[in-house]
Amino acid sequence: MGKKILIVGGVAGGASVAARVRRLDEHAEIIMLEKGPHVSFSNCSLPYHLSGIVEDSQDLVLMNPDIFKNRYNIEARVNQEVMKINRDKKTITIKDLIADRTYEEPYDSLVLSPGAKPIRPNLDGIDHPNVFTVRNVVDIENMNDFIKQEDIKNIAVIGGDLLVWRLLKI
Ligand SMILES: Cc1cc2nc3c(=O)[nH]c(=O)nc-3n(C[C@H](O)[C@H](O)[C@H](O)COP(=O)(O)OP(=O)(O)OC[C@H]3O[C@@H](n4cnc5c(N)ncnc54)[C@H](O)[C@@H]3O)c2cc1C
Repeated sequence: MGKKILIVGGVAGGASVAARVRRLDEHAEIIMLEKGPHVSFSNCSLPYHLSGIVEDSQDLVLMNPDIFKNRYNIEARVNQEVMKINRDKKTITIKDLIADRTYEEPYDSLVLSPGAKPIRPNLDGIDHPNVFTVRNVVDIENMNDFIKQEDIKNIAVIGGDLLVWRLLKI
């Protein structure tokens, strides 16, 4: 058995590291831990779910744990939140969010790729249920469902990056 490499985060950064490590070392044991339900989805296409161009949100998901296992021999564990690094023991503590239990996993090398969270400015009403942030598939599903269920016509967008540009285009 080769070195055991644990990767925290299973989207662009984490999945790229996992694939690269596999190319460099075919014997390494690679485990990718993702707290959300999806690994390796198309962030860039999230807005197209709102427009209906990508009708089924599952089409935004590019890979799943079975494909990672069968194609690259990489174990991708979803719904697993890394809670703690125990550097002295070279282990991490993981919470299985489905089974609601914690366990430890030892590593030789640990890679952190936990990404970022959208900033929620400290404004009045920011916690209202009609205020959304968009970072992943679950976010865009929630927003899409809300728009349809409530027949929303007017939307204010805060921020001026790729997402806004695409929302205006679609
Ligand atoms: C709508 C939208 C459109 C975009 N379009 C483009 C584009 O066209 N081109 C482009 O280059 N970039 C685009 N981006 C940016 C791109 O998606 C990000 O740069 C990229 O996703 C960053 O990848 P990441 O793996 O570093 O972080 P993330 O995508 O944030 O992934 C990190 C993952 O780590 C997980 N995680 C965090 N903490 C833990 C923990 N303790 N335990 C387990 N898991 C954890 C998170 O759940 C998350 O899924 C877009 C982003 C958005 C939101």
